Amino acid sequence: MSIKSVESRRHRVVVIGSGFGGLFGTQALKNADVDITMIARTTHHLFQPLLYQVATGILSVGDIAPATRLVLRKQKNTQVLLGDVDKIDLEAKTITSRFLDRTTVTPYDSLIVAAGAGQSYFGNDHFSEFAPGMKTIDDALELRGRILGAFEQAELSSDPAERARLLTFVVVGAGPTGVELAGQIAELSRRTLSGAFRNIDPREARVILLDGADDVLPVYGGKLSRKARQQLEKLGIEIQLGAMVVDVDVDGLVVKDKDGTQRRIESQCKVWSAGVQASPLGKQIADQSDAEIDRAGRVLVKPDLSVPGHPEVFVIGDMMALDKLPGLAQVAMQGGKYAAKQIKAGLSGQKPEDRPPFKYFDKGSMATISRFSAVAKVGKLEISGFIGWVAWLGIHLMYLVGFRSRLSTLLSWTVTFLGRGRAQMASTEQWVFARNAMEQLERHEREKEAAEKSSGGAQRKAAG
Ligand SMILES: Cc1cc2nc3c(=O)[nH]c(=O)nc-3n(C[C@H](O)[C@H](O)[C@H](O)COP(=O)(O)OP(=O)(O)OC[C@H]3O[C@@H](n4cnc5c(N)ncnc54)[C@H](O)[C@@H]3O)c2cc1C
Repeated sequence: MSIKSVESRRHRVVVIGSGFGGLFGTQALKNADVDITMIARTTHHLFQPLLYQVATGILSVGDIAPATRLVLRKQKNTQVLLGDVDKIDLEAKTITSRFLDRTTVTPYDSLIVAAGAGQSYFGNDHFSEFAPGMKTIDDALELRGRILGAFEQAELSSDPAERARLLTFVVVGAGPTGVELAGQIAELSRRTLSGAFRNIDPREARVILLDGADDVLPVYGGKLSRKARQQLEKLGIEIQLGAMVVDVDVDGLVVKDKDGTQRRIESQCKVWSAGVQASPLGKQIADQSDAEIDRAGRVLVKPDLSVPGHPEVFVIGDMMALDKLPGLAQVAMQGGKYAAKQIKAGLSGQKPEDRPPFKYFDKGSMATISRFSAVAKVGKLEISGFIGWVAWLGIHLMYLVGFRSRLSTLLSWTVTFLGRGRAQMASTEQWVFARNAMEQLERHEREKEAAEKSSGGAQRKAAG
C-alpha cells in the first residue's frame, strides 16, 4: 500500500529514525517549504544517555522518552509514521516500512537516514540471551528487572554460593555507559537498598567492571581515566582490565586474561555495553550505491554526509562514518541540522557540488561515576569530581526534550541525589523474560516457515 504523506506536491523529505539525528533534522526543517514524513520503529524520541538511570530506578520511562508525535504536534509540515523500515530503494526513491501486518511505501525526493546503531556482541550474538545490552527502553526495563530480581532471589536463598552468584553484577565494557551503569548499581546496593532486606546485606554486592582494554574510559585516557578509576574503586567497584569475555551463560561468564588464562566468574546478572553495530539499513544503502561500510556497518559518507552517487540521500549520526567522528548525540544532532540546511539550500537552487563540507563542533563529552562525581572533557579542559558532576547535570537537563521531562527529571534527581530514595523501583517478571520469550517465538515461526517451504518444495519435486 502506498500512502500520501501530506496533501500537496511540495518537495518530499523522508526521515528514518526519531533519535537525536532524526528529530533534530526534522525540527530544523520546521519552516521549510517541504513535506516531511518521519518513520520510526518506536513512538518515542529516546534520550539514550540517561537509559542507565531508568535501569537503576532513578528515572521513569516518560522522563527520557517523550512521544515523538506530541513533540512534533505543532510542526504542521510533518507527519509521523510508526513502522520498521525494511527496504530503502535508492533507484525508485521509496521507503518500505512495516507495522504489524501493514506495509507502507513512502516516496521521497530527499532522504535523511538516522536509524542509529544496535548492540554488537562481536559475532557472539548468543551472549545476548544472558547479557542484555542497553540501547532501548525495553533493554533498560529488562535490566532493572534483572538487577532488582537478583537481590530478591538472594534474599530467598540460604545457599552461600548461590547468594554470592546472585549478588555478583558484571558490567562488560568500561566506556561511558559501562562506567555509569556500574556506578549506579554500586550506589543502588550501597545506599538505596541498604537496610531493606532481612537475610542479605545488599551493600556486600560485588560489582565488577570488565574490559578488554587497558583502561576505563579509554576515549579520555591519561588523567581523566585515572580519576575515573579512582572514583569507581572508592565506590567498591572491582575493575578488571585486559579481560576478554569468551563465553556467557545463565550462571556466569568465562573471561580470558592477557596472559591467556581463562577463568570463570559466577554471576546471575550480566550487562553488555561493549560494542555497537550500525543499523543494517547501512548495508542496504551500500549494496545499491558506490558507498562502502566499515566494520561497524557504518556508511562511509561524503563530506556533505551524502551517499556517493546519491546527493539526495544523507546518512547521519551513529550510522555514518566520517573523519573518525564518535558515536555521540552531538554528532547526530549537528548532522541532522546540517542535512536539513542542505535540503533547504537545494530548494533555493544550490547544487550538491557547492555544498560546504560538514564541520563538527566538538562541545566535549562527559560521564558520571556516581552521585557528585563525574569526568568531563571540553576541548583541552579536563574536569572531574563535583564540578564535573554539576556540569553533567546542567547539560543533560538542557538537552532533554520538553519542559515536563526536564521538570520531572530534576525532581527525581533531587530525591535520589540529596536523599537515598529512588522513585522507579518497580519491576515485573515480564520485563525480564519477555524479550527471550519473544525471540524464541520468532525463531519457532521462522523454523516453521522454513520447514513448510522445504516440504512444499519436496512435494512439488515428487509431483513433477
Ligand atoms: C546507553 C547509552 C548511553 C549513551 N550516552 C551518551 C552520552 O552520554 N553522550 C553522548 O553524546 N552520546 C551518548 N550515547 C550515544 C548517543 O545516544 C548516540 O550517538 C545517538 O543517539 C545517535 O543518534 P542517532 O539519531 O544516530 O540514532 P538513535 O538516537 O539511536 O536513533 C535511531 C532511531 O532510528 C530508529 N530506527 C532504527 N532502526 C529503524 C528501522 N529499521 N526502521 C525505523 N526506525 C528505525 C530508532 O527507533 C530510533 O528512533 C549513548 C548511547 C547509549 C546507547
